[in-house]
Amino acid sequence: MNYSQNDIKFYIGLFPSQSVQNDTVHLIPSFGNIGIIETNEGLVMFDVAIKQFGPRNYKKLRAITEKQIKYVIYSHGHFDHCFGFEPFITEINEKGWDMPEVIAHKDALKRFTKYQLLADYHEWINTQQFASIIGKQENVIDPYNILEPTIILDGENPYRFQLGEIGFELNHDIGETDDSIWLWVPEKELICAGDLMVSSYPNVGNPYKVQRYPKEWALAMEHMLEKDAKYIIPGHGKLIEGKQKVREVLEITAEAMHFVHDEVVKRMNEGKWFEQIFHEMLEIYPDKFKNHEYLKPFYGDYRFAIHAVYRLYHGWYDTGNPTDLFPAKSSDIAKEFIEINPPEMYFNHARSLFENKKYQLALHMLDVVIQGQDSIKKELILEALELKYKILKKKVNEEPSFIVRNILNNGAKQLKSKISSLKKI
Ligand SMILES: [Zn+2]
Repeated sequence: MNYSQNDIKFYIGLFPSQSVQNDTVHLIPSFGNIGIIETNEGLVMFDVAIKQFGPRNYKKLRAITEKQIKYVIYSHGHFDHCFGFEPFITEINEKGWDMPEVIAHKDALKRFTKYQLLADYHEWINTQQFASIIGKQENVIDPYNILEPTIILDGENPYRFQLGEIGFELNHDIGETDDSIWLWVPEKELICAGDLMVSSYPNVGNPYKVQRYPKEWALAMEHMLEKDAKYIIPGHGKLIEGKQKVREVLEITAEAMHFVHDEVVKRMNEGKWFEQIFHEMLEIYPDKFKNHEYLKPFYGDYRFAIHAVYRLYHGWYDTGNPTDLFPAKSSDIAKEFIEINPPEMYFNHARSLFENKKYQLALHMLDVVIQGQDSIKKELILEALELKYKILKKKVNEEPSFIVRNILNNGAKQLKSKISSLKKI
């Protein structure tokens, strides 16, 4: 499948700022986006984006307006939405302005504590998930440097406030995270959605990350639909404009989330294990979702969402085969295969699978050689590693999902260094 490089460019905020409603509502593109609403008493800022984009975003804001920031709202506590505040706060200090109110859902605070607990782990995992776009982790997040919320929402009722002539309403819904809030500005017919809308298939079931909530995601879309908005500033991607467009995007996203949730649940109730559910779900995936511009799998992915629903309701024993309960080490299993057949047989078979474009099966065969390598001559191991590298790179080219491509590319990178160190021996 071919995918557009533009999709990922828009996702990470590489497009010009957008302004609507007589230049009083602005989308500052970033990783994630910043929404700005101007009032006659100052600015409401929805998200502050990733730390490394802070200086760039500050310049962009000040090219648009000189007004003071009165409110900062965190759509949720993720690192790409709450850590780019420094240049804005430096300005406030230099000008002697009052600090803004900072609004967050109460569970965002738990997330910040978790970022500190798991700082090293997150560094390790994010350099994989975002391998192709981020640099050093210290530019991405400093879990000990947080702009602390001053207004903490429990999410039970909408929270309303007024700034100048404009009223603001914050609502809590669950989707990508349990700490998300979205903004409704009736006078501007505007929703700031945070990552409840990311201009891709929703990021539900990300293979690296904790549980997400497909059913509640659908409900969030339906709550937004009630507002009949004309604009959505999404957490990632371009402004969504026009009542009809907004309605269509929210409706199809809700429908896609209901679909994956309800169909997986149905199969769980039929007593099916994960493998069967997964392959059945791939077969019944409707074309209207597959081909929709807002459900492209370049970030979130339908295949991930199937996992998300299953994991929401099920434990880790997911095959129904007791062999898999406490499996032997994969290297020990591979060695047993090599006991019964020479490794060349597995390699040659992998190569013919590769030639017939059966890449996934070829990988399984190659792993017998690679994992069982102790008793195998170096030349064959090298050939197996090189073929695996080639297959991973081929899969990258056919893969629409940014996250899957990063996983495959990371694997290929590790193989490359294994190959070069083996060649030196
Ligand atoms: Zn985000």
